[in-house]
Amino acid sequence: MKNLQKNDPAAYDAVKQELKRIREGIELIPSENFVSVNVLEAMGTIFTNKYSEGYPQKRYYGGNQVVDIVEQMAIDRAKELFGAEHVNVQPYSGSPANMAVFFALMEPGEKFMGLDLNAGGHLTHGSPVNFSGKLFHCIPYNVKKDTQILDMDEVREIALREKPKMILSGLTAYPRKLDFEAFQKIADEVGAYHFSDISHIAGLCSAGVHQNPVPYCDVVTTTTHKTLRGPRGAMIMSKIEDKYHDKYHPESKKNLAELIDFNVFPGIQGGPHDHITLAKGVAFGEALKPDFKNYAEQIVKNAKALADELISQGLTLVTGGTDNHLMVIDLCGNDLTGKGKEVQNALEKAEIYVNKNTVPYEPASPFNPSGIRLGTPAVTSRGMTENDMKIIAKGIADVVKNHEDETILNDVRKRMQELTSKYPLYSELDI
Ligand SMILES: *Cc1c(COP(=O)(O)O)cnc(C)c1O
Repeated sequence: MKNLQKNDPAAYDAVKQELKRIREGIELIPSENFVSVNVLEAMGTIFTNKYSEGYPQKRYYGGNQVVDIVEQMAIDRAKELFGAEHVNVQPYSGSPANMAVFFALMEPGEKFMGLDLNAGGHLTHGSPVNFSGKLFHCIPYNVKKDTQILDMDEVREIALREKPKMILSGLTAYPRKLDFEAFQKIADEVGAYHFSDISHIAGLCSAGVHQNPVPYCDVVTTTTHKTLRGPRGAMIMSKIEDKYHDKYHPESKKNLAELIDFNVFPGIQGGPHDHITLAKGVAFGEALKPDFKNYAEQIVKNAKALADELISQGLTLVTGGTDNHLMVIDLCGNDLTGKGKEVQNALEKAEIYVNKNTVPYEPASPFNPSGIRLGTPAVTSRGMTENDMKIIAKGIADVVKNHEDETILNDVRKRMQELTSKYPLYSELDI
């Protein structure tokens, strides 16, 4: 970054500071990851300059011969990775990807089902403050109060009663596996589209560590920057045929693939970000390599090790553990109801990065929730394994139990820095 260093020292300095922060700290926010230097390089290319509204071979601007190759490469690799019939790699991020799907499948005011936000659903799954809850009629489904686990019989009962046009399966803070086949059966039974949002678990699904919903669903969206370890962005995968064409779109000449594409561009987006498309292709290429399967398996092993040790240290986890890459500490178990923000800040002082989160049937409020969400994708990318998770879990437990004791926070911070110093991060970068 010699040019930035010389010509914009303030911007350069910000990069240096952030690099120091991520090198020293323990990154446990489950939606974050560390992309490869290949992905970083691809994002910093001249493709940021280009306009290419439309799709490969059907553009509204000239000079897209090379961009067509780049976009087709990303599409082909994504198809291979997930076994998808159709892929749109243009969505700017997860939320716009989901918006395009809503507009493709539903009319404003129509009914759909999504996982309750407090139980681990995403804002775009029907929250009243989000377009999905404002423009569409969300019927939430929830986890069981006693087990905090999804009950598919209950999902089915709600679907039979409400007859939604779409059922959304997906999670952002639910620590257990989703049974996409069971969701699909329910959707078929009530004649609803099945839309799955695998933003968090895409890397696990592509590697076979979690069931892949693509064979079952009408539409699947995912961000590319979480477990999939690509650039910030998203994609939409779908079947080509619209199963409910005659029922829901009798006048439309478009199949499902065309409906999705049309609702991304020109529906909600203009020109795609071609430098990000290149980086998506690079990341998909990495995820296709055998090594990525080992990575995904290690994410889950690390999550289990972290969860087991947190429980041994006397903390309570939502559902009692994890099957995927994330877990939620229920602070109510340590008399810290509504103290998620305080504990998050205390952990930050110890250079452990997590985020506060609601717990199912949250007894406090979304602003002062009672949970701490954490996960292992980023520390696993650094090369950490089960033994390191034990050290981290002990540090977390010490902070949770003593979150106002600066001496202990300082001591944990030193232990965490000692650990991270053994796992160099981005040492290849010339910054
Ligand atoms: C992260 C996430 C999104 C949103 O992605 P953004 O890129 O932040 O817009 C959507 N759905 C789920 C399930 C997510 O976890």
